[in-house]
Amino acid sequence: MSKFLPMLFLIGLFFVMWLVLYAHQRRERQKRALPLREDFLAAQGQPEAACHACGKGELKDEGLGSGRDVRRIVSCAACDTLLYRYERPAEVEAD
Ligand SMILES: [Zn+2]
Repeated sequence: MSKFLPMLFLIGLFFVMWLVLYAHQRRERQKRALPLREDFLAAQGQPEAACHACGKGELKDEGLGSGRDVRRIVSCAACDTLLYRYERPAEVEAD
């Protein structure tokens, strides 16, 4: 039995790694399939975006590929639910 323990450990390790990778790729696919901001607000029927899972209005904005990506993904800051995506114009400094 003790001979198989290292093997079982490795199989378990690979399985856990696969699960983590799978969850990550699933979330990446979900990000790309998110509704646009206009569609999200229209579906929600409110002028201000809020989380549809927990109702909080505190949202976080992150880049799709990297922090500076113009394709932005907005998710709930409280429960991490993905909400909508939008594309930020290249020059947004003039505000
Ligand atoms: Zn939420």
